[in-house]
Amino acid sequence: MADQAVPVKCLVWDLDNTLWRGTLLEGDDVRLSDAVREVIVMLDSRGILQSVASKNDHDPAWRKLERLGVAEYFLLPEIGWGPKSESVRRIADELRFAHTAVAFVDDQPAERAEVAFHLPEVRCYSHEQVLGLPGLPEFTPATVTEDSRQRRRMYQANFRRTAEQSAFTGPDEDFLRSLELVMRISGAGADDLARVEELTLRTSQMNATGVHYSDTVLRELCADPAHDVLVISMADRFGPHGAVGVLLLARNAGFWHLKLLATSCRVVSFGAGAVILNWLIDQAFEAGVHLVADFRQTERNRMMEIAYRFAGFATDPCACTSAYGIPPDPDVQRLHLVPDHRNAPSTMRLVSEGLPTSWTPRPRHSRRVSERRDEEDHVVTSTPTDTL
Ligand SMILES: [Zn+2]
Repeated sequence: MADQAVPVKCLVWDLDNTLWRGTLLEGDDVRLSDAVREVIVMLDSRGILQSVASKNDHDPAWRKLERLGVAEYFLLPEIGWGPKSESVRRIADELRFAHTAVAFVDDQPAERAEVAFHLPEVRCYSHEQVLGLPGLPEFTPATVTEDSRQRRRMYQANFRRTAEQSAFTGPDEDFLRSLELVMRISGAGADDLARVEELTLRTSQMNATGVHYSDTVLRELCADPAHDVLVISMADRFGPHGAVGVLLLARNAGFWHLKLLATSCRVVSFGAGAVILNWLIDQAFEAGVHLVADFRQTERNRMMEIAYRFAGFATDPCACTSAYGIPPDPDVQRLHLVPDHRNAPSTMRLVSEGLPTSWTPRPRHSRRVSERRDEEDHVVTSTPTDTL
């Protein structure tokens, strides 16, 4: 079963007689078959990263990959004369992947044995298996989202961004501005739900409630006219950051209820949480409603609490929610804010699109739906897991 195999997140290729036919150093005119090229492109489109561990002189081997038109598919290539187990280990470390998520393919049994001995969790395949790899369950992810399709480009953009940042000598704010960041806030479509679910699973530091919303619950909420599920994505001049946040909002008469805000740790340094909150506060101000936000302290989401407090949320009671009932989870604090006008962010361009047409207070009868939904939401509460 595909969903039982531990997915491979990075495949490390040998070159001579594995990726291409022939041995470069022996002067062969090495050939890349169309079938192998298709495997590379297919794995890439599934969001599986690829790298190289080859015993060759670096420059001619890399030039050959460029000439064959596939160099762009390989991150962090290790082309040199050290043991391949060290190459594979460096690649895994650099990507911060567990060895169980890494695979290695090589035609030489001795190389596979050397990697298997030092890195027993890395899965090794022979060159004869190359064309069959896309058919294996471990190379077949259950869902392929827009972010998986652009995963390699996101990594490449991040490498370039990080390199430039470490070379940048001015103030952080100036670097931030130089990125030409764009944040996009839009209603979540069917294709976004898997990304949103993944975000609520993986964003423990910046998750306001520590609640994990399953794909099924999110699908129901998207279909429920009383709820808005918004997905936040970012990009800059280096490339896409992908989906970086999710916002779950229930609209009630007189107040909007922010049930969840979760953002990726990758964009904490951009102040993404504050930008989203200020945008929402301004939207609520325009609509003439108060804002109520659920917050549940977890061991890791102190930064999100600071973002809420800094935006002006407080625990003072207000008449707007008096008929609304208390949170079903006693650990959930209900924060409140009377919105005022907020300026657009100075460090990025904000684009909101595809929002629900009716951003006005909803009639009273929708309130009952929201209360019932509240209880269901908290059934799927889970403890915060990993960070992105
Ligand atoms: Zn109020």
